[in-house]
Order: sequence, then C-alpha cells, then structure tokens
Amino acid sequence: MAVPKQKHTKSRRNKRRMHIRLKAQALVKCPKCGKPTLPHTVCPNCGYYKSMEVIDVLKKLNKKERKKKEKEMTAKEKEGKAAGKEPLSMEEMSRK
Ligand SMILES: [Zn+2]
Repeated sequence: MAVPKQKHTKSRRNKRRMHIRLKAQALVKCPKCGKPTLPHTVCPNCGYYKSMEVIDVLKKLNKKERKKKEKEMTAKEKEGKAAGKEPLSMEEMSRK
C-alpha cells in the first residue's frame, strides 16, 4: 500500500478545505409577486412561472388561510397598478 512520505501541515489541510462550505443561494425577484425565488423555478408564493399559473397555491390552504392569501395577493396587484407597474409580459422580459 502506498504510504504518504510526509505529514501534511494543518495549514495545507485547511487551505484544501477552505472551499468546502455552504454558499448563499442566488435568488431572483418573482415578476408576479416580488418575493425572492430560485431562478428557473415556479414561485412557491404565487405558483407562477413565465407569467403562467402552474400551481394552484390556494388549493391546499384551509378557508381562513385562503382568505388571507387572496387578500394579500389582491393588495399586491392594486399596489402594482397604482405605481403604474404591471407584471412584465414575455416580450418585455426578452427585451431586457
Ligand atoms: Zn411569485
């Protein structure tokens, strides 16, 4: 069996291990609801992907939670319209 000739120092070991760590996830803002989400994935908050509804987020909630969520979403939409900002269409997104 091959045996190492010399012991590696703590410094050398630590230098090798300095890249073994957790990195902060790269998040993007959801164009529909504005919450931070993973890129190229369906938004878990509103269930939209590429301005299409993919998941019905209200389906699994009970009555009380659903009402709260609906209220939250309509408030967000009104806020966006008041500021003159509507969710970007596919053409607008591709232009940028
Ligand atoms: Zn969203």
